[in-house]
Amino acid sequence: MVLNDLGNKIASALRSLNAHVVVDEELLDACLKDITNALLASDVAVPLVVRMKKNIVREVDLDNMASGMNAKKVLERAVFKELTALLNGGGDASGTKTSGTKTSGTWTPKKGKRNVVMFVGLQGAGKTTTCTKFAHYYAKKGFKPSLVCADTFRAGAFDQLKQNATKAKIPFYGSYTESDPATIAAAGVKRFEEEKSDLIIVDTSGRHKQEEALFEEMREIASVTEPTMTIFVMDSSIGQSASDQAKAFASTVDVGGVIMTKLDGHAKGGGAISAVSETKAPILFIGTGEHIGELEAFETTSFVSKLLGMGDIKGLVEKMNEIVPEESAEKLMEAFGSGTFTMRLLYEQFQNLQNMGPISSIMSMVPGMADMIPKGGEEQGTKRMKSMMVLMDSMTDAELDAPNASKIFNVKRMERVCRGAGRLPSEMITLLEEHKRLGKMMGKMKGIKMPGAGGARGR
Ligand code: GDP
Repeated sequence: MVLNDLGNKIASALRSLNAHVVVDEELLDACLKDITNALLASDVAVPLVVRMKKNIVREVDLDNMASGMNAKKVLERAVFKELTALLNGGGDASGTKTSGTKTSGTWTPKKGKRNVVMFVGLQGAGKTTTCTKFAHYYAKKGFKPSLVCADTFRAGAFDQLKQNATKAKIPFYGSYTESDPATIAAAGVKRFEEEKSDLIIVDTSGRHKQEEALFEEMREIASVTEPTMTIFVMDSSIGQSASDQAKAFASTVDVGGVIMTKLDGHAKGGGAISAVSETKAPILFIGTGEHIGELEAFETTSFVSKLLGMGDIKGLVEKMNEIVPEESAEKLMEAFGSGTFTMRLLYEQFQNLQNMGPISSIMSMVPGMADMIPKGGEEQGTKRMKSMMVLMDSMTDAELDAPNASKIFNVKRMERVCRGAGRLPSEMITLLEEHKRLGKMMGKMKGIKMPGAGGARGR
């Protein structure tokens, strides 16, 4: 994904401190330089980078740091906080809130209530496509969504919405003859209120560029439909140049959330993030493809955790709830809680990973596992995982279930396992090292209360 490169660079800058026992001014400066360079290279706006750096320096005040505080930890926390603030639309975690900031909390519609969501954005941003994805997302969650096409500007807009809506089996409303978008929007919302739709989505017109006529139209539609939420749809591939339009939209209507589309592309994502910060509204979803299912709910802390290679336990648990057999999920959660991580558990996780889809996206959610994905990517990662599983296939039950596998293998046993598996000793050593490293991570997480736990599933 677009922002992975940024995450890798920041994570490696932070990791570079691990080689040193004491973090002094010089080291900290070098690390911060790497971090700011990474942000600038990914197109985050200069003033935002300057402000982030200032906030981080203030937080990691080496001179005044209380003794015993770990400078690396403090720095990591400060970077995490700043990135989170940037993505939450505030762009400033220092506490000096900019006016109108609506950063906190994730918005969700209330089931069974009146939820009218107005979509705004420039033509081509992906509004119409995203409206249907959004409806589909909430239909799967048990809502009764409906779609209103108030775009009378673009020829074919109604047909596009109608086609998408029909495919997704979502009720829709629009008109070929009425030319006033506010009239259509009002009639559509009224119709679906009567039909007890609890999520009425209004797709408004776009224009090639922001212009007064469009903004006037948006105001009128807002005044007749009284939306409970206004979502600004932004094309992430246009980078920082989206900043002006984001500002213009946010100052015309009460933008409460942003959906960034086309994050599956290769543009520098930092520019889009800078633009989002102009709206002072949080990112609610990201679009990662043209298909109806390619809309991902956006949770800032999970995203930043993943970005920095720290894993995303919450996302992992959700994904596991969808796919992994209940018994296996519970065992893993127990291991997280107790800090014991056997070879067998590693084997089972590899098995699960194979069923969960692209391994790099899943592995990036597991703390520590992101590092196991070789730079070459997917194919190599899968190969490596399979080779480790073949080695584990040659182990005895006692070895698989030992709480301290790395200590019980002597050279003879290692050779025997390699022979049985037809693998090289170097691969066996890698497996033991990885297992030890993951075990250590589990140890650190000992006692953490797992999200959705109490059983592994919070359902
Ligand atoms: P609108 O003018 O804002 O209503 O934009 P459309 O919904 O018609 O989308 C414009 C183009 O962007 C279409 O070709 C969509 O398929 C494409 N699109 C929308 N969202 C995404 C996305 O997340 N990823 C990709 N790759 N394409 C997208």
